[in-house]
Amino acid sequence: MAEILGRVTGQLEGPRGPDALHGVRVPKAWLEEGASLEVELPRHLSCAACEGGGCDACERSGALTLRGKAEPPELLELRLPAQPDLAGAARSLVLRVPVRGGFPKEGSGRPRGCLLLSVGVAAEPDPGVRRLETRSVTTSTRPTPTPRALEPAGAPPAAARSTAVRVATVLVVLWLLGLLLARALGWG
Ligand SMILES: [Zn+2]
Repeated sequence: MAEILGRVTGQLEGPRGPDALHGVRVPKAWLEEGASLEVELPRHLSCAACEGGGCDACERSGALTLRGKAEPPELLELRLPAQPDLAGAARSLVLRVPVRGGFPKEGSGRPRGCLLLSVGVAAEPDPGVRRLETRSVTTSTRPTPTPRALEPAGAPPAAARSTAVRVATVLVVLWLLGLLLARALGWG
């Protein structure tokens, strides 16, 4: 059972262009961690109202066309909501993305419809889905260990060695002093 998530904004309700459906699959870890993604939207998306069957919103075609043949693909950047416990039924979720769905009728002055993006799990991400390098804000709050923090762990052997050298030097000096003293007193 998919879960509907999304920010409630004015653009999610009210008059707008037709809502569209798109599905992508990503590795399980991306969902668990709440990865940031770039999704290339196909030229045609299924109409959400009829799920491709054909209705008034899509003029019976079942599909919504996002762009002309020559236009570059539309890229959608989004961050998945982290799903720390992916066990059981929550194997996919549906994100409701405002104003990234079908275009309204020309001259209507309405915003684009919503994109209902279902995100499922697969061993490899679908073509057109890319993980963005920027780690999600929630995972980077823990400070990374600095090199300075590692120094004390490496220091004791060197310090111990130099202490041993110093002690040996002092012993040699004392022994030499003792020899000199003995000779000066005529014991040698
Ligand atoms: Zn339709």
